[in-house]
Amino acid sequence: MTRGLLFVISGPSGAGKGTICNAYLKEAKNTWLSVSATTRSPRVGETEGVSYFFLDRAEFETKLVQGDFLEHAEVYGNLYGTPRSRVEEKLAQGIDVILEIDIQGALKVQENTEEGIFIFVLPPSMEELKNRIIKRGSETPESLIRRFESAFEEINYISKYNYAVINTTVEEALTNVRAIVQAEKCRVARVLPNIKDLQGEKHNGKEIIG
Ligand code: 5GP
Repeated sequence: MTRGLLFVISGPSGAGKGTICNAYLKEAKNTWLSVSATTRSPRVGETEGVSYFFLDRAEFETKLVQGDFLEHAEVYGNLYGTPRSRVEEKLAQGIDVILEIDIQGALKVQENTEEGIFIFVLPPSMEELKNRIIKRGSETPESLIRRFESAFEEINYISKYNYAVINTTVEEALTNVRAIVQAEKCRVARVLPNIKDLQGEKHNGKEIIG
């Protein structure tokens, strides 16, 4: 069985990673979005086990010590982590996995694993980023400023990623994500194990053609 691909998607808060991931997941086959654990409180409309696994700090730290997270990071004062075993299980089953995580987490995935295709989602402009964060309406004025300041810092890490997707419209961004996935599936290293019968010793043409 061909191992699934691990896609890591990051970008500043408000760039639209979540929207792009959800739109992609609706149409993609054989793809699973990892559900992270977090110590932040649920927002209105968020569901335990679907949006996040909501843990208190002590529970999170116990799991951390047990090595249950593939990566973790503190973001805006809360801990976030990717449960390791489910990701490993899905990849081994040949299912593509998407991690929607922050930049610190993405860098840890780069340190801890050999795999990972790293996609950075950018807003079309900082003005548009500001409008999107405000429109979301879930932030206090302080957290809004903090998220906006972080956005500038985060964009400096773009060179650590393999691909950049500018989210002007979801449809355009989605077209690019589809193209990235398709290109990654066509990498020679990934195709090679499946074409054994096309390679190797000289074939006897007469035997094959008849
Ligand atoms: P939010 O609180 O808005 O849902 O997420 C805040 C930030 O944490 C976002 O940038 C999101 O991508 C990131 N995040 C969510 N889950 C994880 C995770 O498991 N690990 C890391 N490192 N970041 C995460």
